[in-house]
Amino acid sequence: MQSGRIIKALSGFYYVESEEKIYQCRARGKFRKNDQTPLVGDFCEFSIENEVEGYILKLLPRKNALVRPPICNVDQALLVFSAKEPDLNTLLLNRFLILIEHLHIEPLICISKMDLAVQKDVHQLMFPYEAAGYRVYYVSAQENQGIEEIKHLFKKKVTVITGQSGVGKSSLLNALDIHLNIETNEISKALGRGKHTTRHVELLKMYDGYVADTPGFSSLELTMEPIELAHSYHDFEELSQLCKFRGCLHDSEPYCAVKEAVTDERISQERYEDYLSFLKETKALKEKKYG
Ligand code: GDP
Ligand code: ZN
Repeated sequence: MQSGRIIKALSGFYYVESEEKIYQCRARGKFRKNDQTPLVGDFCEFSIENEVEGYILKLLPRKNALVRPPICNVDQALLVFSAKEPDLNTLLLNRFLILIEHLHIEPLICISKMDLAVQKDVHQLMFPYEAAGYRVYYVSAQENQGIEEIKHLFKKKVTVITGQSGVGKSSLLNALDIHLNIETNEISKALGRGKHTTRHVELLKMYDGYVADTPGFSSLELTMEPIELAHSYHDFEELSQLCKFRGCLHDSEPYCAVKEAVTDERISQERYEDYLSFLKETKALKEKKYG
């Protein structure tokens, strides 16, 4: 038995990379029985039939899974936000951060179009994020600035790149020389096949790591439990062991280490208030759901 990683799925085949070689594999029938479908990104055990083919026998536990695109074991997400055009929307950034951290994906914040902004203002706006431990990168695809500096981030990681349309993702990917396999509609049309037959998901080898197709969030709603929201704030989570109450939501509970940290400015007031408003939102959604 050999172990490897599924890096591509197409027409019922899974392409498993193992020791620099790629094997075209089928999944044995038992996967369907267990309602377990192999995903791109899965670590698996497989049997080798010959030089190029094999059978997937077992999937290893996943650390996370995305729905769109269907991939798992994603290490990090490069969140692209433009400094200007459109203006940096920190409310949206905060929401993305929660959704990403909730999936146990490490966020990397990338501020694009720096050439359009007053540098000082942007750095000031991002200061609370850096203070909270987020890694922030400032780039301009147009002036080719900061691009070299982010290439090393991809090393040995599976990365997804996301952001609103218009923030400069395509320009950034071009500058990075990354060419994602966007929808293959053109190809399927050319082959005269249906729209869905050639849709495939693939991890692309890039800078000694993998980059996957852009994740689309079907909704930016925070559907997680309030306590899960609290867990999604990595800096709060570290402190929460010092809160008096287990499962402290850092709201009206007394002896709360997070609130203490806000008081003595180890956590910014702004970040905490954003948290409270998101907390309200998760509670309201929960009430709507369960009455
Ligand atoms: P996407 O929708 O996120 O893929 O964004 P695009 O890469 O298509 O860029 C949207 C617009 O922003 C285009 O008009 C680009 O020319 C412009 N743009 C992208 N990157 C930069 C940049 O670094 N500086 C400036 N000034 N404009 C940029
Ligand atoms: Zn607390």
